[in-house]
Amino acid sequence: MERIAEKRLRANEVYSVLRRTYPDATVTLNYTNAFELLIATVLSAQTTDVRVNQVTQPLFSQYASPEKLANAKIADIERILFPLGFYHTKSRNIINLARQLLLSFNGEVPKTHDELVTLPGVGTKTANVVLGNFFDIPAITVDTHVGRLSRRLGFSTQKDPEKVRVDLEKLFENNKRTVLSHLLIAHGRAVCKAPTPLCTKNPSACTVYNFCPRNGIDKKKFEYAVLTLL
Ligand code: SF4
Repeated sequence: MERIAEKRLRANEVYSVLRRTYPDATVTLNYTNAFELLIATVLSAQTTDVRVNQVTQPLFSQYASPEKLANAKIADIERILFPLGFYHTKSRNIINLARQLLLSFNGEVPKTHDELVTLPGVGTKTANVVLGNFFDIPAITVDTHVGRLSRRLGFSTQKDPEKVRVDLEKLFENNKRTVLSHLLIAHGRAVCKAPTPLCTKNPSACTVYNFCPRNGIDKKKFEYAVLTLL
């Protein structure tokens, strides 16, 4: 059974290796301000960032502010969001979100989790993306990749994203939390895929193979892996 201090050490080694593997890992949604990041993140539920970027280009060029979006006709927004799926709900949500921003926050995106989650369509995941990436307030975002990798890497046994986040916060200091999400997402997309990670056929595909309990961490192997990093 791995003790918490050992797990913390291993987790931070995984972080260091992934940092070298994905030095440019960051948000893959396109945005130029907090309002755009908030809207893009709400739209990213159940779809890919690539698709979101395709629709936000026309969306933000025509509805560049909460005022413009709040006064939009829903049919016009639905036409733009159609390729995303769930476009009825998403269109309604972002118009209501813009209205709520004007009503409650003077058109400014709030800087706290508790305020952000009062907005339509905004949950903890979206709030943390905005806090961590726009306002530089450390926050772990647990999406499907982060949840899966956290379980495979033995950082958490939980399925509920909120519980996974709490487990990750026990392992990683504030200054690593926002980037950690990007690293796990990058590794999840490239190598540690669902349903089958590439390591099952090719161990060398994964740079954190020697730190992964899926392959059986033994003390010698871990010490060797740490030494090779020095
Ligand atoms: S060794 Fe396999 S399961 Fe573990 S992190 Fe790498 S790809 Fe994922």
